[in-house]
Amino acid sequence: MRHVIGIDLGGTKTAGGIVDGAGNVLFSSAVPTPSQAGAGKVLQAAAGLVASLQAEAESRGLHVDALGVGSAGVIDSARGVVLSATDSIRGWAGTALAAELTVRTGLPATVLNDVHAHALGESWLGAGAGVPSVLFMGMGTGVGGSYVLDGQPLEGASFAAGHTGHLASPFAVESGQPLPCRCGGAGHVEAVASGPGIFALYTRLGGSTAVDTRGVYALAADGDPVAAEALRRGAAAAGSAIGGLANVLDPHIVVVGGGLAFAGPLWWDAMENQARAELLPPLSGLKIVPAQLGETAAIRGAARRALTLIPATEGSHA
Ligand SMILES: [Zn+2]
Repeated sequence: MRHVIGIDLGGTKTAGGIVDGAGNVLFSSAVPTPSQAGAGKVLQAAAGLVASLQAEAESRGLHVDALGVGSAGVIDSARGVVLSATDSIRGWAGTALAAELTVRTGLPATVLNDVHAHALGESWLGAGAGVPSVLFMGMGTGVGGSYVLDGQPLEGASFAAGHTGHLASPFAVESGQPLPCRCGGAGHVEAVASGPGIFALYTRLGGSTAVDTRGVYALAADGDPVAAEALRRGAAAAGSAIGGLANVLDPHIVVVGGGLAFAGPLWWDAMENQARAELLPPLSGLKIVPAQLGETAAIRGAARRALTLIPATEGSHA
């Protein structure tokens, strides 16, 4: 069977694995991303991880013939270039990611945005497997999404599709004023539905006991009314966006990932109730389910891209 390396390159860590043609992760490891040290250092760390995975594959008698990368940022997957990125990785915009990694590792490479990679992994082998279309929503420190149709994430004309955190939300308004959003806009889903958005709302509502989003959840579970209200509004904002997007896209299934999806039933139930309240009658049977593959989803999705787009070389078997 053919083997490739899949990499999930985020602002905190860079994780990778040896992935076979069926999507099994045979071995994985991770290194910290030197995200504030410049693109050169980030590439060096990623190439070092790839080299260690190549060595591990060789020690197992396996031939790795391609590299697939899911990366933070808006990624031109046709040219393999980072078009734009937040300062979670300093100097990342403009990086010729595929070419630079090929020079450093000797492997032909494909790249795509990490949320698309995550969704592709889930649609290939996880909670979205076996159906033609999947709406994926990632709910965590940020909010992002991806619509995967017939095994292809919709990347858009400018490779910016999937910015589900930057939909207008009726829940991202206070005293008639839209809440400022990290993107520079205002009134967007992410401003109230992300983990930091929920914590900020808790603080604005007068809460002072919790020190982070996890603390807000724990207090809400204990019946603290301020924490419960912040959590409910954040979850409802997520559900509202999911329901509206489902009405537009009519996916076969909705898969929800990210830390909030696994916070517990208080978040999930408020999210799902609001999503169902938004759905048009023909969509009433829509399944909304949690992601299944955890941290291997993006590694597998990135590997899937490489397996699909890069032809197998001599000595490997597709
Ligand atoms: Zn925004």
